Amino acid sequence: MRIIRADTVLTGRPGEVIADGEVLIDGSRILSVGPRGSAGEAPEVLDLRGHTLLPGLVDAHVHLGFDARVDRVTGRSAENDGRLLLRMAENARKLVSAGVTTARDLGGRSFLDLTLRDAVEDGLAVGPHLLAATRPITVTGGHCWYMGGEADDEPSVRRVARENLRAGADCLKVMASGGEMSPGSVPSWRAQYPAALIRVAVEEAAARVETVAAHAHAPESIRNALEAGVTTIEHCTFHTTQGPAYDARLAEAIAESGTYVCPTVHGQFWNLRALIGAEPMDRWLGNVAAMRAAGIKLVAGTDTGFAIAGLDKRTDDYVSGLEVFAEAGFGNAEIVELATVRAAEACGVGTETGSLEAGKRADLIAVRGNPLDRLADLRELELVLVSGRSVGQRHVDTVTSSVG
Ligand SMILES: [Zn+2]
Repeated sequence: MRIIRADTVLTGRPGEVIADGEVLIDGSRILSVGPRGSAGEAPEVLDLRGHTLLPGLVDAHVHLGFDARVDRVTGRSAENDGRLLLRMAENARKLVSAGVTTARDLGGRSFLDLTLRDAVEDGLAVGPHLLAATRPITVTGGHCWYMGGEADDEPSVRRVARENLRAGADCLKVMASGGEMSPGSVPSWRAQYPAALIRVAVEEAAARVETVAAHAHAPESIRNALEAGVTTIEHCTFHTTQGPAYDARLAEAIAESGTYVCPTVHGQFWNLRALIGAEPMDRWLGNVAAMRAAGIKLVAGTDTGFAIAGLDKRTDDYVSGLEVFAEAGFGNAEIVELATVRAAEACGVGTETGSLEAGKRADLIAVRGNPLDRLADLRELELVLVSGRSVGQRHVDTVTSSVG
């Protein structure tokens, strides 16, 4: 049993701030959260003056094992599975070094995400709790086909879904549209599946893991994913041949349904803005702000692992993505919410983690300062607990790239 005290405790729930608060932890669980003195006595007390305690951060969209050097013709990677798994473990360590204590891996090959997830839980590797989608379901030759999840019709979508679930996937990922990372395949402004086929994956998930994430750029693919009843829509860029074209009626329908959207807001925003121009990037960010105004439940997820225009979305750069939400006009309290409790709910683990509450997993961080006043204080990590286990990672430098 131990008590951790801090000047400020943010429970993750909107507006819930405890001045001079404390959290009582027993092993991997939170026993109580309240003002100083509320937890009684404990053999171990950590008093963090000048600090804020808050739930561990959640990244709803990562690819720890993306290998940018995959041969586009053969689908063969430059890395063998053994080396790739080591790099994924290093990426997991970097992710937790940024205060991320839960991450959802939305696609990789060879079921390595499951191996890594279990290794982290067993204490063999340092990283956040991982939720793994394994092979994304995609059409033959479609977006990320080389991850091994090709399926073109109802029986084959069902088969890939069932195989992923049999292997131990925590959620399913469907490529509802094409993408920009697989040249020669379906472009991002084209839908890959009709709603009926996405619904097959939703049906298969319903009986077991429940959550389905749909990669969707094209408005038609967003509509199909929504109609199929997926849990989260990823990217949601409204991408057409003329660039992002916001569809207010579609956004309204998403908000009404309660479907979460992970717009994959990431820390390379300013670099990309300098590289490809302000107009398209500002239009994209304007769409994120419009989705918020429409009442859509947005969550934080970085799509880390992917490179855009040669810029590697670094695994340890999570907080920069949150700063881009601030750039779009979001307030700090709302950003903390979408990075913790709301992202955990979107990933289907809201009853387990994402907020500081009695009975939940002791996934929490302590930072110097107060992120409600200054978002950048989220970088001033003093403590990172994953299931009560301290995994603080300071001053560790490696030269390994997130994307191989
Ligand atoms: Zn992705």
